[in-house]
Amino acid sequence: MKMKNIVENIYLFSDENSRSENVTVILTEEGPVVIDAFNSSEQWKVVDAFIKEAGYEGPKALIYTHWHLDHTVGHYLTFKENYPIYAHEKAKQYLSVFKERYLNRFIAHEIVEPTVNIIFPTHTFSNTYTLSKGSYTFELVYIGGHTEDSIIIFERKTRVLFVGDVLMSHPDRMVVPPSLPIDYGVDYMDLFKSMKKIKQRIQSDSVSHIIPGHGMKTDPRILFQQNEEYFQSLHSFVQTEIQKGRREDWEKVNPAHVFPQPWWEGALDKQQFHVNLIKIYQYLTK
Ligand SMILES: [Zn+2]
Repeated sequence: MKMKNIVENIYLFSDENSRSENVTVILTEEGPVVIDAFNSSEQWKVVDAFIKEAGYEGPKALIYTHWHLDHTVGHYLTFKENYPIYAHEKAKQYLSVFKERYLNRFIAHEIVEPTVNIIFPTHTFSNTYTLSKGSYTFELVYIGGHTEDSIIIFERKTRVLFVGDVLMSHPDRMVVPPSLPIDYGVDYMDLFKSMKKIKQRIQSDSVSHIIPGHGMKTDPRILFQQNEEYFQSLHSFVQTEIQKGRREDWEKVNPAHVFPQPWWEGALDKQQFHVNLIKIYQYLTK
């Protein structure tokens, strides 16, 4: 687990041994506000120890960027009902459908711990919600795109923007939804629209850092540019190939033929890259 002090009192934890899942702790004057909660109690332990070290029993408030388990369940062992959990109203809905239909399968495949417990949000909203803690103000805004319940969070004092999985530190892992059957409500064009909204906010809000749901890249300009380049290159490549008559063999595509400037050199997950090509092909020909 890596930890980085992003800006005054904002600490980013990223699990590089796993899928670089991120949790951020903001030590406000009223106590720690935590964004996301990892996938396992093993990962959460590190954050829990950090919070206790800082002199607190637990979070003062927790915010879920979206319902996906790698952002929501890690704190199940230490969870006490004394801290509110904020999320979009649909997060609650998705988590309960997931618990009912898929959780046992995830446990059987060892994707989550066998003792895991889904911790539901206690405070939900539909469009925006403002949370003030000490000198920090968190603006929670609905954005969608990655999932139907995805939100972004803008902290006004430090101008840090938390974007969940709408942008990725490794853009190739930007899982083009739907990643699970219950995410069928979104398609990858929704993701592109949400990305554009973030692009506008980077300028209009003079965003200082962007914290994505995975990975430690936080420079707003670089992070956005790489995600956009990945997305647009994939899209136009597939479009051109369809015009040339390609219907299959997407898994044989060499990434070097898609990206003129390989920012991803050595880091691209080829399997994910091919999955994304296929998903875009299916979308464009449906
Ligand atoms: Zn996600």
